[in-house]
Amino acid sequence: MNTPAANLADIPASNSADTSADIPAGNSADDLARDFTDIPTDTSADIPAGNSAADLARDFTDIPTAADSADDLAANLADDLAANLADIPAGISDGDLARDFADIPAAAPADDHAVTGIIFDIQRGAFHDGPGLRTTVFFKGCPLRCLWCHNPESWSRAPQRALRAATPGAAPKLHGRKITVGEILQTALRDKRYHDASGGGLTLSGGEPALQLRFCHALLRAARTEGIHTALDTCGHAPAAAFDLLAPHVNVFLWDHKATDTAAHPGLHRSLTGRPPAQILENFHRLYANGATIILRCPLIPGVNDTQEHLDSIAAFARDHPRLAGIEIIPYHDAGLSKYDLLGIPRPALNTRPPDADTKRRWRDFFQSRNLPKIILPT
Ligand code: SF4
Repeated sequence: MNTPAANLADIPASNSADTSADIPAGNSADDLARDFTDIPTDTSADIPAGNSAADLARDFTDIPTAADSADDLAANLADDLAANLADIPAGISDGDLARDFADIPAAAPADDHAVTGIIFDIQRGAFHDGPGLRTTVFFKGCPLRCLWCHNPESWSRAPQRALRAATPGAAPKLHGRKITVGEILQTALRDKRYHDASGGGLTLSGGEPALQLRFCHALLRAARTEGIHTALDTCGHAPAAAFDLLAPHVNVFLWDHKATDTAAHPGLHRSLTGRPPAQILENFHRLYANGATIILRCPLIPGVNDTQEHLDSIAAFARDHPRLAGIEIIPYHDAGLSKYDLLGIPRPALNTRPPDADTKRRWRDFFQSRNLPKIILPT
């Protein structure tokens, strides 16, 4: 059983230097082979095969095993999750991040199509994940724990079986499966005529796609080789070297701007998302300065992050970065709450609800008063 609270105790105030210092210059083919040997080969079984004991201890604490009774699982999960969420929001430790990003590939794998990763969904015909009609792939694993997250099934990097089924009598859903780049491309290529007709393409979302860096890199590059437009939906929390690697293969970044620290609330971003904003902002400015196409995405949660300081910060972002391709205001919705129940994760301690008409009008009035031509407001 892991101890998430212990992992979280060592999160430093700033992550700007910690995760990129030990990135090696290059990785061998052996490294590549080794790194992916521990991906479960059969996600349909209760116990994923092929993982080391350490991996299992770390990643699969919340996967039911045949030996566990439902009561045992519930008790274990409750203990773990209570520890995990006692220090809300929880996150992946810096030690984990250092390990995840230590293998940034300097050399291309021999065959992008054979690279494997873990995803939990593919949505075809999506129209909220970048321009046009998109094929959106949802990666497992996220270094943040946003209190308003509606995809908690993305948090664990490993396949994760729900505690309960959505439908009485059905089997609890297993969130996550191993897939190759080639398999995803087959789906994306079937959708390509819709992409081309609508100005759409392939979007990598999650979770945080950069957390599975090799897979993310290979998929982006293979898609671009096929002439598919690519979007990377990212929380921005990864070493700069990761984005340097990915950027040449990304047509547009969908970049989250979640909260603004102020003198009165210096730790607000971290308390709402599990991570301080320093590295995220550093990465944004680096990509912008290098000419990346970026759409800023701003989830607004009534009474939580829609402070005047944050609205001002969004307007300032738009004003100071005229090359932004768009600024999207994304209103909170609570459609993901039932997922917490099915997964056995306590619902976040978030005192909010979807914005009413008055709240949306207040947001609209503010941004319209700032005359921001590229802002996309909720109706
Ligand atoms: S970055 Fe996205 S997936 Fe990760 S916790 Fe936040 S909302 Fe959820």
